[in-house]
Amino acid sequence: MKKIALFFVLAVFVPSLALAWLAVRSLRDQQLILERQQSLLYQGVADSLAKEADDFLTEQQHEFGRQVEAMLADRKAHDLPITFDDRLRTNWFPAQVGFVVTVKGDILSCVPNCTPAAQAFYTDNGKFLGNRESAEVYWNSTKNTANNSIPNNSIAVNSSFSNGYNEPPLTKSYFAGKQKMRNVVPQQQPVLSQQINEPQNYSKVESSEAEFRQLVGDSNEGMVARFLENKLNLLLWYRSPRDTNLIFGAQISLAHLKESLKPVVQTLEPALREDIAVALLDDAAKPVAVVPAGFQSNWKHPFVATEIGEALPHWELAVYLLNPAKLAESARTLKFTLGLLIALLLLAISVGGWLIVADLNRQLTLARQKTDFVSNVSHELKTPLTSIRMFSELLAEGRVLEPEKRQSYLHIITAEASRLSRLINNVLDFSRMERGEKKYSFQKCGLAGLVRETVETYRPHLEANGFRIQAAWPDAEIMVNADRDALAQVVVNLLSNAEKYSNGQKEITVQIEQLREPLPYAEVRVKDRGPGVPRGCEEKIFEQFYRAHDSLGSGIQGSGLGLTLARQIARAHGGDVTYRAQEGGGSCFMIRLPLVKPQSQ
Ligand code: ADP
Repeated sequence: MKKIALFFVLAVFVPSLALAWLAVRSLRDQQLILERQQSLLYQGVADSLAKEADDFLTEQQHEFGRQVEAMLADRKAHDLPITFDDRLRTNWFPAQVGFVVTVKGDILSCVPNCTPAAQAFYTDNGKFLGNRESAEVYWNSTKNTANNSIPNNSIAVNSSFSNGYNEPPLTKSYFAGKQKMRNVVPQQQPVLSQQINEPQNYSKVESSEAEFRQLVGDSNEGMVARFLENKLNLLLWYRSPRDTNLIFGAQISLAHLKESLKPVVQTLEPALREDIAVALLDDAAKPVAVVPAGFQSNWKHPFVATEIGEALPHWELAVYLLNPAKLAESARTLKFTLGLLIALLLLAISVGGWLIVADLNRQLTLARQKTDFVSNVSHELKTPLTSIRMFSELLAEGRVLEPEKRQSYLHIITAEASRLSRLINNVLDFSRMERGEKKYSFQKCGLAGLVRETVETYRPHLEANGFRIQAAWPDAEIMVNADRDALAQVVVNLLSNAEKYSNGQKEITVQIEQLREPLPYAEVRVKDRGPGVPRGCEEKIFEQFYRAHDSLGSGIQGSGLGLTLARQIARAHGGDVTYRAQEGGGSCFMIRLPLVKPQSQ
């Protein structure tokens, strides 16, 4: 039975633990997926805004081409190569300096000494544009070659001036230089770096060592960025199909560029503004534009970031979480709730299992007690019946002639018969009580008189067995409300126990006392000098079928019902039966009953 209970508990417990473990794992996986989805979503946002910035620059490049074409279309502009710087700055304000270079590297414009900006530009870029030195540059050229966009009649011209380069068009990898460290390290980088399997703390935008004519190759427009004393220098260039020998260029004003790029971050969707902030960071990881305005953060550690491209090297579009702890917080709350639920589940299973096992134990004990009870009662019935049968047969056969012997046999028969009827009464009463059918007829009666009567009825039997009974009766009667027969049965059960568990100490004391504290009550004490109730069993002896001295061990017959009945009857009277060990050895059983209230006396 215990094994079944254990198996049952384990069958519930183990799968529950496994389920709990699975739930925790899936929660962790869910959190990772959620984080991944979030980073992909925001990476998409950064990518699209970075593309917008890049598109803006491409548009600027095309616009520059259009400006050049417009100037070339002006018939009066014969001196355009010389006056280009001036004209461009007048017509197109993003330009800081305008320049014209021949394919061979002759700088036709700007004129070095005309403005301080032109002078500085000449100093910085003269050698590079004149193909006299190569520089560390970031470049993208539109491979929109003369073949595609230059009219057929120019092709020959184009090929004839193709600056002596017979190699295939240069590709960027040809120039691939050292990768630069990224200024910004996005938080999500480790995750993404696992995906694309490349070190992410390096910028994807690479510089390369090149001469200007190498970059231009056979393309007709492009952008070149270079850092001069850590300051970004962005050049646009354009070669018109009208004269492919000339390359028109412009240095873009960085201040103007920054202003023009500000609206890019403003295109962030309003729905996303509750969760993220977006910043356009320059090559020093300083914010150029931020949405929402006033947002502050450690700019070098965005959630995700995308580089804008070669035109603006190391400029990034960075996304920051407005509440970085939000995801972790909700995961923590979920984990806590799950943990609590799992703990509650395990607790419920444990308590349930413990209750089942405890109940099973109780049931097992009760079943064993009932089996013992049946064998005890059978034995108790059999013993007096055997004596009654034996002595009555002897008397019936007329074989006992001596009158004293006959008298003694008759006594034994009477005593055994009353023992039988006591036992049967106990069993019947118990079953009546179990079914709730036991009826009491309460009436006012004198307790001392009732106890005395019962003791006196029992006295001959006890004295015949060598017992000495000491009884002290009060002077005044003690009135209680009681069912006389039921109360007499309680007294007889206690006297019978005192006799059974005397262990040769044949001394029984009966006392009655009227007490006032805590409430007025009467107390009947039945004391013996036997071994007393074993320690730890003082309360258990009042449980049904419980026997502290089992029949086999002690040789004392019993049903384990006497005290159960005594207590139930006393309690039905508003009182109780309790046990206390006597000083000097022996038991003292006390029947306590409430007194009849004075006005009803
Ligand atoms: P039983 O028929 O076994 O006597 P009871 O309900 O009357 O059943 O008593 C329950 C148990 O209490 C007994 O088995 C015995 O172990 C213990 N007991 C009862 N009365 C006494 C006593 N006077 N002295 C010692 N033990 C007692």
